[in-house]
Amino acid sequence: MNQPLILIIEDEEALRRFLVPTLTSQRYQVLSAATASEGLAMARSHNPDLVLLDLGLPDRDGMAVLQELRSWSRKPVVILSARNQERDKVRALDQGADDYLAKPFGAAELLARLRVALRHTLQADVEDPVVCGGGLRIDLGRREVTLEGQAIKLTALDYRLLEALIRRNGKVATHGQLLAEVWGPGGAGNTHYLRIYMAMLRRKLEADPTRPKQFITEPGVGYRLDLDARGD
Ligand code: CA
Repeated sequence: MNQPLILIIEDEEALRRFLVPTLTSQRYQVLSAATASEGLAMARSHNPDLVLLDLGLPDRDGMAVLQELRSWSRKPVVILSARNQERDKVRALDQGADDYLAKPFGAAELLARLRVALRHTLQADVEDPVVCGGGLRIDLGRREVTLEGQAIKLTALDYRLLEALIRRNGKVATHGQLLAEVWGPGGAGNTHYLRIYMAMLRRKLEADPTRPKQFITEPGVGYRLDLDARGD
């Protein structure tokens, strides 16, 4: 099978010099652009499988690039953001970006995120609705959760939150996305609901709830579920 084509839109030359060989060494096909207009033109002509998008570009705001990409493509977009740009990250995720990498990041983190982003997100009606990892087994069809073979009792809201995280398939979910999916319009702004229910899920499902490995907090942004992390 052909390796996925990745388009990098990033004006920082040093970062492109790191990204291009790192990705080509993993046999990804790589295109890179230093401006928003060049990047959008390449996206249209090559229809890449994934776009790595810097938010701070010289000619146009990266957010505008994201909106334009999303007007015609559902392919994954991973944001490259400077630290202390939590609000921008959240906005980008809420507007359809799949994930983000906070600069500086290493090769291992980059490659892990790309693998997750390139994985297909679970659909509502998957053929095999059973998800396993790190001792957990979640049967989405039967709404059954077991940990090391033991049935775990979850409340309806616990379960809905767990399911919302599972459907992200390892990608980050923003506070706003989770609140809307679990509590509906009434949840907007109530991030403390999330803290409470996340603590509950960790207590029931993490090996050590005080040092969570699977239910990961992304500070200022949201949460992600890494089911396979328990065995580390
Ligand atoms: Ca930049």
